[in-house]
Amino acid sequence: MSDHYQIVAFIDLQLDEARAVATKIIEDLRKRKILGGLIPGADDANATRRMLFKTGDAAASVITGDPIPRQSRRAAYGVEIVIGWWAHGDGDVTHSAMCPACGHVTEELTFDDGPLRHAASKIADEQGGTVVGCASCGEETLLLHWRFSPPLYFAPLAMRFGNWGPLSIDLVRLLETLSGSRARVAHELVA
Ligand SMILES: [Zn+2]
Repeated sequence: MSDHYQIVAFIDLQLDEARAVATKIIEDLRKRKILGGLIPGADDANATRRMLFKTGDAAASVITGDPIPRQSRRAAYGVEIVIGWWAHGDGDVTHSAMCPACGHVTEELTFDDGPLRHAASKIADEQGGTVVGCASCGEETLLLHWRFSPPLYFAPLAMRFGNWGPLSIDLVRLLETLSGSRARVAHELVA
C-alpha cells in the first residue's frame, strides 16, 4: 500500500524564524488535540530537522472525508514537521515551471538531473536565495518565485500529513495565522 502526504509549506518564512514558528504551531495543535504525542527517533536527516507526531484525537475535525484511523501504529498516519530549506512536493514526478518574469513554461523537469535538480541542491546552502535563469527571456529570478505544476514549494518549514483526508480550509487558515506566513498545499505519493 502506498502512502499519501499532504504537505503544507510555509512559503514566506526564513530559516531563523522557522524553529520558533514550529514550536508555536506544535503547542497550539497539541492543545486542540489535532496533534498527539511526539514519536521519538525520526530526527535530523542532512541539514533538515524532522519531528514526527501521532495523529491527535480531534484530527477528524480538521479534515474532510473519512476519519483517520486513530489507533494505527503506522507512523504514516501522523504529522511530520520539517525544519530546514527543502523542496516540498512529489520528487518522483516531472514538473513544469513558469518563469515569473515572462511566463515561459519549461516542461519535463525532474529531480534526477537538469536545472531543477541543480537549483534544489543549492537552496539550503543559499538560505532560499537561489536564483534561476530563464531559458526564454534570460532573466534571473528567485527560485521561490517560480510557479510549479504539480505544486512544488521551497520553504524552510513544512508539515507533512500522512494519509489524512483533505485538510479543511479552516485548518490551513489557522496555520497561516499561527505562522504569520502564507501556507500552500502540495502532495506526495510514496509507493
Ligand atoms: Zn522568462
